[in-house]
Parts: sequence; C-alpha cells; structure tokens
Amino acid sequence: MTSIVFATQNPNKVREIQQMLPDNFQIRSLADIGCTEDVPETQDTIEGNAIQKAEYVYKNYQVNCFAEDTGLEVEALDGAPGVYTARYAGPKRDPNDNMDLLLKNLADQPNRNARFKTVIALILDGQIHTFTGIVNGEIAQQRSGTDGFGYDPIFLPEGQSQTFAEMDKDSKNAISHRGRALAQLLDFFTT
Ligand code: IMP
Repeated sequence: MTSIVFATQNPNKVREIQQMLPDNFQIRSLADIGCTEDVPETQDTIEGNAIQKAEYVYKNYQVNCFAEDTGLEVEALDGAPGVYTARYAGPKRDPNDNMDLLLKNLADQPNRNARFKTVIALILDGQIHTFTGIVNGEIAQQRSGTDGFGYDPIFLPEGQSQTFAEMDKDSKNAISHRGRALAQLLDFFTT
C-alpha cells in the first residue's frame, strides 16, 4: 500500500483523486496527519505556490505529499488574475464578484484569450516532480450555464461551443486544466 498526503483543506478534492487511483494507493488529507493550520501560499507564481505548499508539508510532517495550485491567465491582462484568481475582486473570494470584475476589465477588449493552468507539485522521498495541465480558451461576453464553480460560466474552452458551466462534469474533466494535470500524476504513479 502506498500512502501519500494531498496538501489541501478541500475534502472534495481528496475524494476526487482517491476515486481515480488504484486501490493500493491511499490518499490522506491534511486533517489525517494533524495539520490544521493554514499552509502558506505566498509565492507570485502558480508553480511557486504548489511547490511551497508541498514543501511545507514535507518539511513539517515528514511525509510524501503533493499539492496543487490553479490560476486563470488572461492574455490581454498580462496574465492576470494568475495567482490572485480566487481573490481577484477581494478577500471575500466571491465567484460572482470575480466574474463581474473580469468582464468589466475586458469590456471592449477584442482579445479575450485566456487559459487555466494547474500545477501539481509532488515530493517523494525529498525529490520534487511537477505536472502542469493547461486548457486554452476565451472569456465569453457574458455568463452561460449553471454547473461547475468559479469562472466556469464565462470560460469557453478552445474548440467547444459551450462554457465549462454548460458541460457535464465528465466532459469538463476530460479537457480541463485540473483533469490534465491529474492524468499526468496518475501516469507517474501507475506506469
Ligand atoms: P484552486 O487553486 O483550485 O483553489 O483554484 C483557485 C481559483 O481558481 C478558484 O477559487 C476558482 O476561482 C478558480 N478555478 C480553479 N479551477 C477552476 C475551474 O475548473 N473552473 C473555474 N474556476 C476555477
């Protein structure tokens, strides 16, 4: 049995990845190892934050672990909101406020290219491995769809006619940033 800690406070994310892994892998959460404090994420890149979170857990709890970080990068805004994606419109982290601000900042902007990027940093016996998943797309002119979370109603993945919020979960996971990064992590563990 291989046991590995996922450095997230979000139990849904732990469950999601546990379901994707073979039975001989056990994913433990931060709560399982007694880590209840906030894990620092103070870097100015998505990669940096993923690595910082994994290193914090590895150093303080001496366990093999991985962490992930995700951001939305908008070309016309020089890559913003990037590491500020969750709190773009302020510390309330309200998805509707975030979408409103992004739509406002892109008003009259013909270039609506954007991408979601997820980086997973894995530390195994002190060695760091990173896996990056990217989905290119565009920011729509207005919201469509009600599924999903975050910026899903305004993100139109490349080659698709629906926003992430109009797609069912499996269709989104098959092409999403997080799905792609997770697929690489699974490959690493299973091949
Ligand atoms: P996290 O690192 O997974 O917490 O993601 C940071 C922020 O990016 C979230 O709070 C959301 O606003 C946004 N985000 C991440 N993944 C998605 C997604 O799949 N769809 C829409 N928004 C997302």
